[in-house]
Amino acid sequence: MDEPSSRLASILVVSNHGRVVGGGELSLMDLLRGLARDRWAPALVVPEEGDVASRGRELGLPVHVVPLPTLRRPGLGAVRSVTALGRLARSTDAVLIHANGSRAMAYGGLAGRLAGRPAIWHVRIAESDGAVDLALCALATGVIATSRAVARRFTWAPRKIRLVPNGVDLVRFTPRPPSGALRATLGVPPSAPLALSIGRFVAEKGYRHLLDAAAHLERARPGVHWILVGDGELDGELRAQARRLGLASRVHFAGWRDDIPDVLALCDVFVLPSESEGFGRVLVEAMAMAKAVVATTVGGIPEIVLDGETGLLVPSAAAVPLADAVRALLDDPARAARLGGAGRARAESTFSLGAHVDAVERVYAEILGAGRVARSAQRPRGART
Ligand code: UDP
Repeated sequence: MDEPSSRLASILVVSNHGRVVGGGELSLMDLLRGLARDRWAPALVVPEEGDVASRGRELGLPVHVVPLPTLRRPGLGAVRSVTALGRLARSTDAVLIHANGSRAMAYGGLAGRLAGRPAIWHVRIAESDGAVDLALCALATGVIATSRAVARRFTWAPRKIRLVPNGVDLVRFTPRPPSGALRATLGVPPSAPLALSIGRFVAEKGYRHLLDAAAHLERARPGVHWILVGDGELDGELRAQARRLGLASRVHFAGWRDDIPDVLALCDVFVLPSESEGFGRVLVEAMAMAKAVVATTVGGIPEIVLDGETGLLVPSAAAVPLADAVRALLDDPARAARLGGAGRARAESTFSLGAHVDAVERVYAEILGAGRVARSAQRPRGART
């Protein structure tokens, strides 16, 4: 039998961002937590200090800070960073570079070429980036797409693409009784019907349509409360819109929170009004909490939410169908519970963190080919969630 150390494969994992911007960083941290430590020795590279670095250190990972200056106007700094990453790949004896996002891939891909290491580009966004896609795909040995919608960005390079949906921690996201205290803290009256949405406050998440839908519903079926969890550049604008629509007492802005499972447990229906979505982790999180979902038919969403089975899908950027779907579920709690139960089952069968980690490890093994990694892929695995 091999000594464990001889089977350990070092990987350089490069994050686009130093702080947790959204689901991309959280999915990366979940992957780093899940990778089998007796097979893979990830080292995390961040462009600056921040909560990605601190979460990496909490996982016991070595963390390296290498600036990733914008590539719109490349200069000497960019050359220095590519060289530093290449050196790091050699000094850590990395067998591959895993780049989370485009900027990480540009640097990781060039450093990989310099150091003679393969690079994987993890793509989480469905919108194509023109010539940048061509260049980065050429640099990448393999491309992980989080949904078929994301994979469609690369129809011209099918052999490089591997579809690996995100997974969520199904133990953390387990249904639980709603907390009356949390509900009160968020300002929601005890028995009011409650819709919830979670996401960055940016245009692509479509929150202005959600607020219009809330106003429409308030006229048709008064008394529904809404919690919006998250933050972002549109925070002030959305609060002003809610006030303008007379919804100040109905819509509760909860800011960015770390207790997402507890907040999810409060709601009667979960809503994601996105106008564009590569994957949408929050949908799986809501399904895992056995919540019926109302979401839009954009990007990767229909691959996650099955219309009429685990939720209701409506067109994006349209308030009335959104309001009608929310109302339909609030008016029929038995149906909402059925959809929620099917959502939990679907999260378990298709979107577990264990399945996600296994699939990424298979991509690593495939890229590295036969040899020590191929042997490690046959190991018995502990049960993962
Ligand atoms: N999230 C969080 N706290 C918040 C808002 C969001 O922890 O206040 C998490 C959320 O639970 C999810 C992620 O951020 O895991 C958002 O991922 P998603 O794929 O839905 O959207 P993205 O940010 O990638 O567009």
